[in-house]
Amino acid sequence: MASLSIENLCKRFGASVAVDGLDLTVQEGELVALLGPSGCGKTTTLRMVAGFLPPTGGRVLFDKEDVTRLPAHRRSTGMVFQSYALFPHMTAAQNVGFGLEMRGLGRAERETKVEEALKLVRLSHLATRFPRELSGGQQQRVALARALVINPKLFLLDEPLSNLDAKLRAEVRIEIRALQQRLGLTTLLVTHDREEALTMADRLVVMESGRVRQVGSPRDLYDAPQDAFVADFVGRCNILLGQRENETQFRTANGLVLSVDIAPSESKNANAFALRPERISIHPGAKGDLRGSVQAVTYLGSQTEYHVRIGKEVFVVIRQTPDASEPLAALKPDDQVSLQWDSRAPRLVPQTSV
Ligand code: ATP
Repeated sequence: MASLSIENLCKRFGASVAVDGLDLTVQEGELVALLGPSGCGKTTTLRMVAGFLPPTGGRVLFDKEDVTRLPAHRRSTGMVFQSYALFPHMTAAQNVGFGLEMRGLGRAERETKVEEALKLVRLSHLATRFPRELSGGQQQRVALARALVINPKLFLLDEPLSNLDAKLRAEVRIEIRALQQRLGLTTLLVTHDREEALTMADRLVVMESGRVRQVGSPRDLYDAPQDAFVADFVGRCNILLGQRENETQFRTANGLVLSVDIAPSESKNANAFALRPERISIHPGAKGDLRGSVQAVTYLGSQTEYHVRIGKEVFVVIRQTPDASEPLAALKPDDQVSLQWDSRAPRLVPQTSV
């Protein structure tokens, strides 16, 4: 496996800029996810790393080797696409072995490697089936085996789970991550699914309009987003615009005063108060400093989501679903409640850093 370095990578399509000076390093054995809204340049970046698309500027290096001008078939990357892209007229084993045949490996060696790869993805028993005889999840595993069998320098995943249903997606996510860690695969994953990115990646790169907004571990980005865009993109967040009154108070544009505890250095350009819904506690009754009324209660199984109006602001609160005997379980729209949080839980961030 190799490390990957991307230096000042740019891609223009006519007048529009898809990727705008991207710098990124993926260490050997690391899984880095590119996360961002549709059209932010994730797939374009991945395609330039794979060699399917020539960059307008910048460099791509595998270890220290500059591969920017190397065609895709000489880069030795294993790629998995959202569409699986299997050959319909070939069996699972033939699909997996295709790349080896192209590389001129003899039949016996091919068969051993295909067997090993199918075993890795637990599909040995379905080796002779055609794609149409396999479920979506099984086809995805054939695609994984096909990418792994060539012993790639780099593993590239482009929205690999988007075509699977939610339950299967959660399972395959864990499987891919386990395989990636066990084999030490240097991996670049493209996704717009924040849960997928948070659960699978060692580090996340949040992109917007062809640029990197923030890079960090899932926890860094979730707990310490540098601006409101990142805060909102990596998870549910209450974001209220306004300004800092002093070290312990933030006044929203609608005049609500909220308690905070932020180091002065952290909040130079901060005009947004960001607070995760699960960091807020909710108390039935009309006592407390921050009082309001319930707008909606949504039962989500293990969790319950409450929308609470306080003055002109609406807060989203997510709590573990209370036991039926607790007073919280009886909450309904129009009930009076108060909200509380640890004053260190909110972050003050700029609305935008660009
Ligand atoms: P999605 O999550 O929807 O796949 P993405 O972040 O992967 O989005 P890209 O596919 O990289 O986004 O596209 C980035 C921008 O470049 C978009 O504005 C897109 O319309 C544009 N673009 C991509 N490919 C081409 C092309 N071949 N010709 C012209 N514009 C393109």
